[in-house]
Parts: sequence; structure tokens; C-alpha cells
Amino acid sequence: MSRQDTDDRKSTDDRKSTDGPLQNGQRPGSERAQGGIDGEALVEIDGLTKIYDPGGADVLAVDGLDLDIGHNEFVCLLGPSGCGKSTVLECIAGYLGPTEGEVRVDGERVRDPDPSRGVVFQENRLFPWKTIGENARFGPQMRSAVDDDRIEELLGDTGLDGFEDAYPHELSGGMQQRAELVRLLANDPDIMLMDEPFSGLDAMTKELMQEMLLDIWEEESRTVLFITHDVEEAIFLADRVVVMTARPGEVKEVIDVDLERPREFDMVTTEEFTSYKERAIDLIHDEAERAMAQAEGQ
Ligand code: ADP
Repeated sequence: MSRQDTDDRKSTDDRKSTDGPLQNGQRPGSERAQGGIDGEALVEIDGLTKIYDPGGADVLAVDGLDLDIGHNEFVCLLGPSGCGKSTVLECIAGYLGPTEGEVRVDGERVRDPDPSRGVVFQENRLFPWKTIGENARFGPQMRSAVDDDRIEELLGDTGLDGFEDAYPHELSGGMQQRAELVRLLANDPDIMLMDEPFSGLDAMTKELMQEMLLDIWEEESRTVLFITHDVEEAIFLADRVVVMTARPGEVKEVIDVDLERPREFDMVTTEEFTSYKERAIDLIHDEAERAMAQAEGQ
């Protein structure tokens, strides 16, 4: 793929996992949302419920969500704004504790954040007073595990060679997000938790970032949970797209995306891709309407 320096599986018993785009190609879900998982799940989310309590007014954000994510799987969580996607991600990250239910990683209950679960947000978390190289080294330094060769390799993989001594404000938005990816990968996380990381970028940069992320994911063994409200982005990236309901967030349906890999952006115009896209739009449309009605009612 080209890189430019200038930028620029719940299906609880009552829910389904769709095997491909065919309307009548649906098959009943497995016990849990684990459609494409071979073997043991890395992440197990069991009955995750989160109630926020802003000023005594309970907000039920997520309601009894079950989901398994396999080792090295790329899962996209797709849903309208406010449906609880970030809440789910932050419970996996260990930033938030569930009100009910639990999240397990490798069989262990998540209680706190851990470098093995790296998080990227839409707004990068680079330290503005540190250079790109210093930002990348910061996490490993905390664990006395700096690997300069690895950081150099990551800078190369993300097209940031020569920018090691630059400060974040000297880079374009897309380059900052690439630096954020370097920072994340320098910590060698088993799980990459990505919360709409590209949604602030222009369309062309976003496509390049998606291709670059897939290149990195295909080269290295990582498990990714990627949050988006962009249907095309979800289908392009994922092995499975988990479509959520409007708040309170639950799994509405899981789409197994059986598009060949490696994926390149020109596949978004193919009939097969369009078919997945139509299916996802169909599923999310009612939820988006409900989410909008909720927002207007607030
Ligand atoms: P999404 O990521 O899908 O946009 P969120 O997980 O951010 O959704 O939020 C789900 C719901 O929980 C929303 O209605 C949001 O307003 C509410 N919410 C999120 N965080 C808090 C909080 N700290 N206090 C109160 N309500 C919150």
C-alpha cells in the first residue's frame, strides 16, 4: 500500500450471526457472539451492564452484553452515537468497572488497565512536549523494556522515518495518528482497543490509515477491537462486525465478513462489499433513528 508523509462473535441464543451478506444466508448464532472464533476466546464479555449515575439520574448505557473475541481476530463494534460502544471498550481496557457482569482476558477478570491492552482514541494521547521518538519510548521505559530497533521498525512501517525528533504539533493529523499507533505498538499489546481512531481525518487519509492498520495487523499477531459508526470502515476492516442496538447497548447482530485478505480499498466498490454494506446499513438504520429520538428527548 502507499504511505504518504504528507497525508495526505452474543449472539446470545436470541440473536443471530449472519454468515455473509445474503439476506437468507443467516444462520443461527452460536451460544455467544463468537462466529469466527477458532478455539478459545481471548476476550470474554459476560452480561456486561453499565449504569452511569450523573447526579443521581441513572443512565443505563450497556445492558447485559455478551461477546467473545478470538485470538488475532479483528472485530468492529458498529453502532449509533451514544449506544455504549466506548463504554464496552473502556470496560475491556480496565478504565471502567462494570455495574454487573464481567470482562475476562485470557481467563482473568479485568480489574485495572494493563499495557497488554493498548488503547487509541480519536484524539491522540501523545505528550506535546515530547518528540515522536520520546513518545514511543515512554511506555516501554516505564517497564524498562525499550527496544530501539523495534521503534525504528515501527516508524518505518508507519511512514514516519525521519520524524523521530519532530514534535506532535509539527505533524499533520494523519501523521499524529500514525505516531499514536507507533506509541501503542511500542508497548507490544496483545489487544489493540481502538475508539474511532480515524474519524477526525479527511476521507483520503482515513483510507490510507485503514490500509496501513490492516498491513500491520496482518504482519503481527494482534487482536483488535475497533469502534466505529462508519459502516464502510467496519466492513473493510473486520473479520466480524458486531452491530449494536441504540442505548442501552446490546448486540443486535453479528456479521461475519468473509471478504478475502489482504484487503485494498478498491474492493469497496465490488458487489460483494456492497452487499455486506447494505446488510449493515439495514441493521443499523432503525437503531440510528432510535438513538436520534433518544438524543432529542434529552
Ligand atoms: P458511544 O461510544 O456509543 O457513543 P458511550 O459509551 O460513550 O457511547 O455512551 C453511552 C451512553 O452513556 C450515552 O448516553 C452517554 O451519554 C452515557 N455516558 C457515557 N459516559 C457517561 C458518564 N461518565 N456519565 C454519564 N453518562 C455517560
